[in-house]
Amino acid sequence: MQPYPLLINYYNNIMGTEENNKALNFIEEIIEEDLRDGKNNSRVHTRFPPEPNGYIHIGHAKAICLSFGIALKYNGKCNLRFDDTNPVTEDVEYVDSIREDIHWLGFDWEGREYYASDYFDKLYEWAIKLIQMGKAYVDDTKAEEISELRGVPTQPGVESPCRNRSVDENLDLFQRMHNGEFPDGSRVLRAKIDMSSPNMHMRDPVLYRIKHAHHHRTGDKWCIYPMYDWAHGQSDYIEGITHSLCTLEFEVHRPLYDWCLDQIAEGTYRPRQIEFARLNIDYTVMSKRRLLQLVNERHVKGWDDPRMPTICGLRRRGYTAESIRNFVNAVGLAKRENIIGYGLLEFCVREHLNKIALRRMVVLNPVKVILENYPDDKTEMMATVNNPEDPASGTRTVPFSKELYIEQGDFMEEAHKKFYRLTTGNEVRLKNAYIIRCTGVAKDPVTGMIKEIRCTYDPETRSGLTGANRKVKATIHWVSAKHALDVEIRLYDRLFSKADPDDTEEGQNWKANLNPDSLSVITAKAEPQLAHDNPENKFQFLRMGYFCFDKDSSSQHLVFNRTVTLKDEWAKISGTRDEGQGTSGA
Ligand code: ATP
Ligand code: MG
Repeated sequence: MQPYPLLINYYNNIMGTEENNKALNFIEEIIEEDLRDGKNNSRVHTRFPPEPNGYIHIGHAKAICLSFGIALKYNGKCNLRFDDTNPVTEDVEYVDSIREDIHWLGFDWEGREYYASDYFDKLYEWAIKLIQMGKAYVDDTKAEEISELRGVPTQPGVESPCRNRSVDENLDLFQRMHNGEFPDGSRVLRAKIDMSSPNMHMRDPVLYRIKHAHHHRTGDKWCIYPMYDWAHGQSDYIEGITHSLCTLEFEVHRPLYDWCLDQIAEGTYRPRQIEFARLNIDYTVMSKRRLLQLVNERHVKGWDDPRMPTICGLRRRGYTAESIRNFVNAVGLAKRENIIGYGLLEFCVREHLNKIALRRMVVLNPVKVILENYPDDKTEMMATVNNPEDPASGTRTVPFSKELYIEQGDFMEEAHKKFYRLTTGNEVRLKNAYIIRCTGVAKDPVTGMIKEIRCTYDPETRSGLTGANRKVKATIHWVSAKHALDVEIRLYDRLFSKADPDDTEEGQNWKANLNPDSLSVITAKAEPQLAHDNPENKFQFLRMGYFCFDKDSSSQHLVFNRTVTLKDEWAKISGTRDEGQGTSGA
């Protein structure tokens, strides 16, 4: 796989071009200043640091596009570093999925795949150095008490009675923590910084905790594990990272990040932490903890359920990597939290799919049409293009015969004036075929439901012939009944019914806002070509939206996911350009 070169242009095109220097985002401004100042030998080296405790989501895609994109733009490097300091929640399943998803998004770490756990020895060594400098101590206080004694920002915290332990005693206790002599939670190693700092993170933060737990990489070697604040900056330092880009919640950690580095660093090289706003999207949740709950409690069918905002969920839903990168770019980079409308994501995927999707005809809610004056056994093959936006996509033929299916919604027995589709006595064009006129309906005598619509066709109006120019107000799609494939279609709605899933009644939680109708499954009638189409292809089912094959699909049973509906349907446009392939929806 060679995703890298493909993306160099991408970054230049959309994240700010050379001729568009004014459009530098604030991170690029900082980097260019560092480069001008010759900081860190004018290198640019970033990293993406996922914790392997879940599948990555569209929010992570923002961090990925940013860190890998910056490296591309400045001829630098970007590492993949698994931030695996919490053995209890982490798993190799997640490691594998994260790798796959980053590659799929189009980025590559060129073999620089690292793990915070690779540095456990070095971090331990540095912790001992810190104790020897009198800047760390073992505290026997319970976790809840530690946070209580830390106090509130406006008042100094209370020093732990263990704070003034001798270096020797601390070294001995830390060694014994490491040897496994103490139970979980009985002791921690804390940095000795400033219990009255207005920044709570500087009030003697915990650096190590005891956890007798098996780690997916280091096995049972360790029973003490470093905290994020002790692991992250040091890992950056070990890897030679120059710009450590992370989300805003780490802004308050930055003084601690710098403090830790100042204790251990030699020379002038320093990584620099820069924060940006996390991506939030309405009608969805983005915390991995919540996504895990949705999976474990079976509100969805798995991490790759097409309703999930995970990368694998979006991929299964039919999103393309390009559309996700475009979305991230459209969102832009901010220093303040904001919430992006789901519609922007849908806009981006439509825009890309419109260019690449093959057009097919599928009737989602079928009703039968009989052409009274069409020969019983005749089949005509109607030629049409696969994608009017892409001449290279070629053509196909669609069989036409006496009995057809059209959408129930395209027919009204007695229609109001603005209804331009099929009504009794009126004409409509069948896409790529003929103009037909409705002569009446046959109903079920018991239910009164329409069983079939009787029509006549005008043989002079076949698509491509001179009569094709005759104008009618609407064009609808159809499928020949005897050639139709029965296919399963999964239609999706938002996973949550409220823009803010946390907006709940008292006593309820965010899960009360799950949308009970987020999935509906129907059987549709599809043109036969779909049985021969490449499972990797993307499709536009005319007027019905963009679709892709689901992984559950087999040659015996075709299954499709609707990625997104079309922005506007032909039906809403009065006076459709009759055979116009380039109109919206075509
Ligand atoms: P956790 O709650 O498990 O810490 P997390 O979403 O922070 O979840 P990480 O694996 O720690 O997950 O994130 C890896 C990187 O992705 C971090 O640098 C983090 O800042 C970034 N990131 C996570 N969520 C978002 C988001 N919604 N928008 C932008 N970046 C994000
Ligand atoms: Mg995190």
